[in-house]
Amino acid sequence: MAYLGTPGATKEVINKYSFAFQKKFGQNFLIDSNVLENIVEAAGITKDDFVLEIGPGIGTMTQYLCESARQVLAVEIDKMLIPILEDTLSEYDNVEVINQDVLKVDIKSLVEEKNNGRPIKVVANLPYYITTPIIMGLFESKVPIESITIMVQKEVADRMQTGPGSKDYGALSLAVQYYAEAKVMLNVSATCFMPRPNVDSAVIKLTRHQESPVEVKDESLMFRIIKASFNQRRKTLVNGLKNSSELDFSKEEITEAIKSIGKEENIRGEKLTLEEFAKLSNALGK
Ligand code: SAM
Repeated sequence: MAYLGTPGATKEVINKYSFAFQKKFGQNFLIDSNVLENIVEAAGITKDDFVLEIGPGIGTMTQYLCESARQVLAVEIDKMLIPILEDTLSEYDNVEVINQDVLKVDIKSLVEEKNNGRPIKVVANLPYYITTPIIMGLFESKVPIESITIMVQKEVADRMQTGPGSKDYGALSLAVQYYAEAKVMLNVSATCFMPRPNVDSAVIKLTRHQESPVEVKDESLMFRIIKASFNQRRKTLVNGLKNSSELDFSKEEITEAIKSIGKEENIRGEKLTLEEFAKLSNALGK
């Protein structure tokens, strides 16, 4: 039975192994069994599922995942946690722990090898500093994914759901909306973690679109345009795109493309919807 989701059980493990929390790895462990049950429920894990957990820590959520899923693969960067995980997960025979930096792992090949390339569910209580690269990496590298259910900083959850007109709108919002439907599943107070983080958190579920919501001829070009638009947020879209080292269009070509999608030539990128970015990229890519 999963037993780690309390302050007492967590302290016991920490003391037994004289474990020192590492700030650089964003180590804030969950100590609330209600939150843990809610995350697994939000993720919709069943006995058919292969789950990738990023950052298992001492194995708190991993225990819950092992009980709900068919198979769990957990990737943990901190080698000090590996012997602890061997202990806390010893009663489960459907889990494998890999000691690596998830950003350096070829997840697509791993999924191919371990789940015959069939879609997986990703569940994670992420260290906040790698939220964006992890999400973008999973989507861009075309890992077969059904959904990603992750704990993120509350502001980041807001950023993923928002549209033009909000200060939180940016490249992450557009990427998430292009690949998935984003829904905040629960808010989690800082008191549910040991040690307590300085911010409140939210669990967001990204369910991958079966079909892309917009028609894009060249996905990579669209994302280069999006990144260039938000890199220089205060500049007009024309200047943002013209100054980007990743794009090679003249001012005239950019102005022409912006007009062709029915927008003013002095518009800022932050005013464009996903659909408009798709149209702009199709016009520029011609
Ligand atoms: N899942 C546990 C829980 O909910 O209690 C721990 C969550 S803690 C916020 C984040 C975990 O991710 C830590 O165990 C940390 O060592 C691990 N981690 C940090 N950076 C990582 C990386 N690049 N690759 C894999 N794991 C990482």
